[in-house]
Amino acid sequence: MLYIGIDLGGTGIKAGVVDEKGVIIAKGSCPTAPERGYEAVIHDMAMLAIDVAKQSGHAMNEIKAIGIGLPGIMDPRSGRVPFCTNLAWHDVPLIAEMAKYTDVPVYADNDATVAGLAESVAGISAGCENSVFVTLGTGVGGGVVLGGRVFSGSHGVATEIGHMITVVDGEQCTCGNRGCWERYASATALIREGRRLCEAKPDTALARAVNGDLITINAKHVIDQAKAGDLDCLELFDRYVYHLCVGLVNLINLYDPQVIVLGGGVSHAGQFLLDAVRAKLPDMVFYKAMPYARVELAKLTNDAGIIGAAMLGR
Ligand SMILES: [Zn+2]
Repeated sequence: MLYIGIDLGGTGIKAGVVDEKGVIIAKGSCPTAPERGYEAVIHDMAMLAIDVAKQSGHAMNEIKAIGIGLPGIMDPRSGRVPFCTNLAWHDVPLIAEMAKYTDVPVYADNDATVAGLAESVAGISAGCENSVFVTLGTGVGGGVVLGGRVFSGSHGVATEIGHMITVVDGEQCTCGNRGCWERYASATALIREGRRLCEAKPDTALARAVNGDLITINAKHVIDQAKAGDLDCLELFDRYVYHLCVGLVNLINLYDPQVIVLGGGVSHAGQFLLDAVRAKLPDMVFYKAMPYARVELAKLTNDAGIIGAAMLGR
């Protein structure tokens, strides 16, 4: 059985024909250019899907389903996308528009959810019934797979794990609340705390590493200084990992998954991050005498969006 997965991003659209095991057999891409309006973007997505099917040597009637991962949410009851900020979509009839070009069934879900599904089919959590995928980027996103299926909640808006409130009256979040997990566990948090450190200690190693130009501090600068053993950045990183683990423990207590997969920019800290998280979690989990989720780094990188979207229709 074959599926088409479409990774719809703000700048580009990627699509691929994917087999039952999550292996891509043909792929292609085109620009999104969202300023043209949703009709043109959806037209191009459909044409790209037809094109990759042709490339793979299969007719569209051999494709079981088309899945789309998008940087927003999807209302599964109406087939509409209520909003998708970086495409400037509001209440877009995605499924009905796609049906103008193809009669293959179309499914769609949030891109972090889709990346989690990809890991659970062809990545680090492959074969696991229950897993949670956490992206540590500008914000924190998540995908939850339960019983081998994506869990999207009753209204398609579940697993906005980045907006779990982990610090009451904490940092202001872009969502309007205060103290959301992503204010503490994202790359943005490392940058903010790095700048605060340099403001308090202008001759700290981090400030010297960016020649005092605090605006240029990124998450990698902070992590690199911690890796190099700078005590200020180690302390900062330790506090970051504590906040990260607060959210991870909440997820473990909620879902008891087999695996938690860490993806996104901060996960490029690799083993350094993994070791720190694995060292802190045991004291924080509730059932200390019971096994709990293995924490791993994401394995699929660029193609996770295509593979996971394709698997929505499986
Ligand atoms: Zn929030």
